Amino acid sequence: MAKEFVKDVTAMDDDFAQWYTDVVTKADLIDYSSVRGSMIIRPYGYALWDNIKNELDRRIKETGHENVYMPLFIPESLLQKEKDHVEGFAPEVAWVTHGGSEKLAERLVVRPTSEVLFCEHYSNIIHSYRDLPKLYNQWANVVRWEKTTRPFLRTLEFLWQEGHTAHATDEDAMEETIKMLNVYAAICEEILAIPVVKGQKTEKEKFAGAKATFTIESLMHDGKALQSGTSHHFGTGFAEAFNIQYTDKEGKLQYVHQTSWGFTTRIIGALIMVHGDDRGLVIPPKAAPTQVMIVPIAQHKEGVLDFAYDLKKSLGQVARVEIDASDKKPGWKFNEYEMKGIPVRLEVGPKDIENKQVVLVRRDTLEKVFVPLDQLETKLVELLDEIQTNLYNKALAHREERTTVAVTLDELKQSLEAKPGFIKAMWCGDLACEEKIKEDTTATSRCMPFEQEQVSDKCVCCGKTADKMVYWAKAY
Ligand SMILES: [Zn+2]
Repeated sequence: MAKEFVKDVTAMDDDFAQWYTDVVTKADLIDYSSVRGSMIIRPYGYALWDNIKNELDRRIKETGHENVYMPLFIPESLLQKEKDHVEGFAPEVAWVTHGGSEKLAERLVVRPTSEVLFCEHYSNIIHSYRDLPKLYNQWANVVRWEKTTRPFLRTLEFLWQEGHTAHATDEDAMEETIKMLNVYAAICEEILAIPVVKGQKTEKEKFAGAKATFTIESLMHDGKALQSGTSHHFGTGFAEAFNIQYTDKEGKLQYVHQTSWGFTTRIIGALIMVHGDDRGLVIPPKAAPTQVMIVPIAQHKEGVLDFAYDLKKSLGQVARVEIDASDKKPGWKFNEYEMKGIPVRLEVGPKDIENKQVVLVRRDTLEKVFVPLDQLETKLVELLDEIQTNLYNKALAHREERTTVAVTLDELKQSLEAKPGFIKAMWCGDLACEEKIKEDTTATSRCMPFEQEQVSDKCVCCGKTADKMVYWAKAY
């Protein structure tokens, strides 16, 4: 029976890219719009984003930040002020050249990121050491004119938050950079059940204009990596370009030290590709818009619907519970909510009511358990916890199974072919080696992890002495 219900989704192992496309549309997360590379986030997809956003927003505020809103447009001259930054973003910016029928005296950029707007604002409002730190965050959309696009992973427009902070000292800025990286890691691991590797980007991979970029990297089911959040230490580079200075306690003028950090709707792509299976989405309970879907069985029989609605009300105290009392067949409903990745399905029919029990079916393992009514609340809370933990452990085991060590370039190539995933290998620090690896294998340096291991003494590429271990992978 199950087979025929899932016939519309391509099997993951047959064609992972097609499976992904099937799932994002059939689980009602998105629809395509008539603008190439843009997507409509549908109510179910937006509810998922809302949960992630609300949890992250709470933690951003808890760590002392304030939300603000910056304009959508950036004057060309403002973007030009920081040389590396403009070079990094120029190839993918969208320009506004006209207002109505009038040609603008100065072109405007639709924000690809808002560093320069924050910098301009900070140069106006920061004067004294008493004005520091400034800990601002904004929730917004940004536009990057990407050539190839995929829902959530790469779209012309996406949603995110961008934090921008200014500090008196380099140490304060560094502390902030790592603090926010840790907030991102916690959201991934605690809420989304996605294990991450924390580390620093190489010079080649760092953010345009940053002194150092830190990242969390996760591994998808197909063995490709996904950059899941970044936090940048700017030093005084932007402050010098935008003249953001403050008077210190001794009355001397100093440049501020800045950071920025961002987390985007891309993470929904990660969630799909880390936990999904051939039946569709699998959403960890803490992120799930609906944690329990009640499906009444033989609902036309007297008392069944009333009973089911009573259950919804009482369980609503401990979980996010919905009920599908439509006249669609139970089999259709089972399939639909498996596709949508709802963590637990609760079935209840006349027999169950008679026996004072219900059936709980967990989405992660598809296991079915009968639970006596008088234990239902406790058992349900336990089950949701168990699913959350199981999904994390499963993802971690998969990542570990797909993490290999390479000592030579040949080994690295073989690993990528035989068992795509993270490859730990030593690197001498030369850009030439990093570029050669990318050219030969299409794998990129994901990060220099904080937890370093000396897996060999020599660079995997040139054989020279090397003391940095890098995670390499093909990436989204
Ligand atoms: Zn080398």
